[in-house]
Amino acid sequence: MRGFSDEQKRTIKKRDNDCCQLCSSSKRQRQIHHLFSQSSYPLLANVLLNGLTLCEICHAKFHDFCPNGTNSGDDFLIFLDDQFNSHRFTNARRLKKRIAPIVRELRFLLLI
Ligand SMILES: [Zn+2]
Ligand SMILES: [Zn+2]
Repeated sequence: MRGFSDEQKRTIKKRDNDCCQLCSSSKRQRQIHHLFSQSSYPLLANVLLNGLTLCEICHAKFHDFCPNGTNSGDDFLIFLDDQFNSHRFTNARRLKKRIAPIVRELRFLLLI
């Protein structure tokens, strides 16, 4: 199982304006998060929609929140709710609106 190629990572970062999609940082190191983890959902490991640009801090925050490495896109939505509820982080709500339909679409891909 392979993750995103360097070219795919560049494509995802460009799509995401090369900034963290949660906190908007364009200074901290940006990483590509798999909404559906590579290890549990290998079919989605190279699907561009399954990748999301996060800074290293927000990325680590999610994986601390959901540390088992088997995370799904639904776990990410729960994390965004938590970010909004505990910090009134309005970006989290905005990101959830964007990501929720993508999670549904990826779930659909897993069924076919
Ligand atoms: Zn961030
Ligand atoms: Zn990740």
